[in-house]
Amino acid sequence: MLKIGLTGGIGSGKSIVGKAFEMMEIPVYVADFEAKRLMISNVELRSLLISRFGDQIYDVNFNLNRKLLAEIVFNDSEALKDINSIVHPAVRKDFIGWCEQHSQTPYVIQESAIIFESGLYKNFDKIITVTAEEEIRIQRVIERDSMSRELIMERMKSQLSESVRIEKADFVIYNNTELILPQIERIDKQIRSFVEK
Ligand code: ATP
Repeated sequence: MLKIGLTGGIGSGKSIVGKAFEMMEIPVYVADFEAKRLMISNVELRSLLISRFGDQIYDVNFNLNRKLLAEIVFNDSEALKDINSIVHPAVRKDFIGWCEQHSQTPYVIQESAIIFESGLYKNFDKIITVTAEEEIRIQRVIERDSMSRELIMERMKSQLSESVRIEKADFVIYNNTELILPQIERIDKQIRSFVEK
C-alpha cells in the first residue's frame, strides 16, 4: 500500500480534492482534523500540552481553549514550535495505526497543508499538490471563512510559495477554471500503476 501526501496552500482546494478521492473509495486522513481530535482525546498528548502550557488550556470537560492557545502562540515565538513538536509525533503515530486499518487498499492519502514545511514529505511515497492563482484562492477563502484579505495574505506569506511546492511535488492539480476530476482520475491511474509494478 502506498502512502500519498496531499498538500497545497490556503484555499487551494485540498479538501475538495481529498473528498473527490474519498468518493473514489480512497481513504483520506485529514491531518489537521485528526490533530484537533487527538489534542482532546489522547491522554498522553493532553498531559504533554498541559505540562508545557498549563492546565488552563483545557476546561473541565477537556475541551481545548483554542483562543487561549492562539494568544499564547501569538505572544511567544517558541510556543508554535513546541506545540508542533508535541502534536506532530502523536499524529504520525496515529496515522501509522490508521494505515494498518486500511492495508487492503492500493493507496491512502494524508491531507496536510504543511507536508513540505514540516518535513513530513519524507514519510510519503508520492506527493500531490493542489494549486490555484493567488487571487482565486483569496476570493474562495473570503467566501468560505469571511476572513479579511490581510489575514489571508499573511497566512499565504507564512506558507511555502506555490512555485516551490509545485517543484517539489510529484503531481500537480490545477484548480483555477480547469476541471479537477479528470486530473484526479489521471493521477489515480498513475498511482495504481506504481502499486501494480
Ligand atoms: P485550507 O487550507 O484553507 O483549509 P483548502 O486547500 O482545503 O483550504 P478548500 O477548502 O478545498 O481548500 O477550498 C477553499 C474554498 O474554495 C472552499 O470553500 C471550496 O468549496 C472552494 N473551492 C475549491 N475549489 C473550487 C472550485 N474549483 N470551484 C469553486 N469553488 C472551489
